Amino acid sequence: MISTKSEIPQSHVLKALEENGLDRRPANWDSYFDDVTEANVRRQIAEPIAPFSLRRLKTLISPAALPYLEQMAQAAVRVTRQRFGNTINLYAPVYVSNFCINRCKYCGFNATHDLPRKRLTVDEAVREGEAVAREGFRDLLLVAGEDPKYVTPEYLCEIAARLRKHFSSISIEIAPQSEESYRIMERGGIEGVTLYQETYDRELYREYHPKGPKSDYVGRIVMQEAAARAGMRRLGIGALLGINDWRYETMALGLHAHVLIKHYWQSKVSVSFPRIRPAPDVMDNFPYYVNDRSLVQMILALRLTFSDIGMSLSTRESGEMRNHVLPMGITHMSAGSKTNPGGYEVDVDATEQFVISDERSVAEVSEYLRTRGFDPVWKDFDPAFLDSGEAVTQDS
Ligand code: SF4
Repeated sequence: MISTKSEIPQSHVLKALEENGLDRRPANWDSYFDDVTEANVRRQIAEPIAPFSLRRLKTLISPAALPYLEQMAQAAVRVTRQRFGNTINLYAPVYVSNFCINRCKYCGFNATHDLPRKRLTVDEAVREGEAVAREGFRDLLLVAGEDPKYVTPEYLCEIAARLRKHFSSISIEIAPQSEESYRIMERGGIEGVTLYQETYDRELYREYHPKGPKSDYVGRIVMQEAAARAGMRRLGIGALLGINDWRYETMALGLHAHVLIKHYWQSKVSVSFPRIRPAPDVMDNFPYYVNDRSLVQMILALRLTFSDIGMSLSTRESGEMRNHVLPMGITHMSAGSKTNPGGYEVDVDATEQFVISDERSVAEVSEYLRTRGFDPVWKDFDPAFLDSGEAVTQDS
């Protein structure tokens, strides 16, 4: 199921990370930002967003930019409004399995944990999807741990086929698959793949993913490209914030996004900001915890580097935090999420992957958006666009 490096065509992403010395945190990290001045920051804020520049991203995430967060926020609000209007796309995850053969040190579904495991049958997954559809969602994300014997392309295609009438868009957040498996799923009505690299630093990656297929750094980093070649229309990327310096991860994430946009322009790229959350039986002392101010700087810097990229903030974040950053670049939000298989209806007591922070109901989130002048958009995409042959626009 999982491709090995030798089966994969050359990876533009891996090549770019290696060439820019970003497949690990640079050795000179302590002095990495010493060449960025406040004058550089002011110039970057004043300049319109041009084609991607790693130097611009570096400047905007630097410590020198900290006194300018307010100006960056004003510029980010303007850009977001121009490019996306007053809309926020709402989506919901449905977890279909909390079985997993990996041992990620930060995750409650870690294979070594003795917890009640649950896999949804196709009928149960459809019930969960229908519960989400009744809330108004038309954009669905199917999520699973790495459970290759059960969570197969055929299983996911069957769920997608039965839920298709309720959703205009169905995506997956599961283990990396072969290009051929992505192709099968794309033909089966699944059109998006979210896959976080967790950390772009090879050495730290090995430390946090000691065993299981996920310990293969290269096997993971190349998979968005396989999904894009297979025709997946939406690609979601991110780093798990808290296990490495966020500034380093932002540099690597920005480069990853740029390479995908450049080489796979038919697909729409979006970035997420998953800050590590408490989970049952996992380490709780993460050395690089990302505070609110740093998260805001990261969001602003990426928006001011990529005017058209999708940016997603999930219920991992508190309602207060999500309300605060809402106009600064965010385009997608989950709401009313359950992170346990069956959590909406089938088995509400099943074990969660992590504890969500924004516990507002879907109705409360959408009402709040309206009070702030945003239109909640339930439907990310209309498949009729493809049927009519309309071109999918390029990101940048
Ligand atoms: S993060 Fe994903 S792959 Fe790792 S243990 Fe959790 S569910 Fe499994």
